[in-house]
Amino acid sequence: MGLEVIYNGMIVLNPYVRENLIKLDNALPGDVVVTGGDRYRDADRNIRSASNGRIVPNASQTSPHLYRRGARAVDIAVPDATDRQIRAAAKDKTSFSDPNTKKYPDGHTHVSLPPYTQYKIPKKIRDEFCKQNPGSPGCSSPTNNCH
Ligand SMILES: [Zn+2]
Repeated sequence: MGLEVIYNGMIVLNPYVRENLIKLDNALPGDVVVTGGDRYRDADRNIRSASNGRIVPNASQTSPHLYRRGARAVDIAVPDATDRQIRAAAKDKTSFSDPNTKKYPDGHTHVSLPPYTQYKIPKKIRDEFCKQNPGSPGCSSPTNNCH
């Protein structure tokens, strides 16, 4: 159980994702470390990280990391917990969708809230963030606002 979720500069704006990460952190030994957060689609339909603007390799056009899909997903690592502990805690202690929890070969675990309106990022949250951080990659172009 860590004191806080470690974001490492990764942008995760969805407050429902953030509150479920705290629940996950509270249920596990050690800290939950975020390895990947929100994504947006640029004018050429490339999927890019909202954290650093880089193209995300092999990213799905329908990924729940995308703002246009509600920014419901986050990638994490929990160095002090086993895969079994992470999966059980996500299933029993959070609203993350168990069928959508996926361990990747590089060691990160993908978790996502279910595809319901109630879990999508509220538009005002992103609007407010982009007003405060106009230079942030996911806010760079007005045309990106709905992507
Ligand atoms: Zn992911």
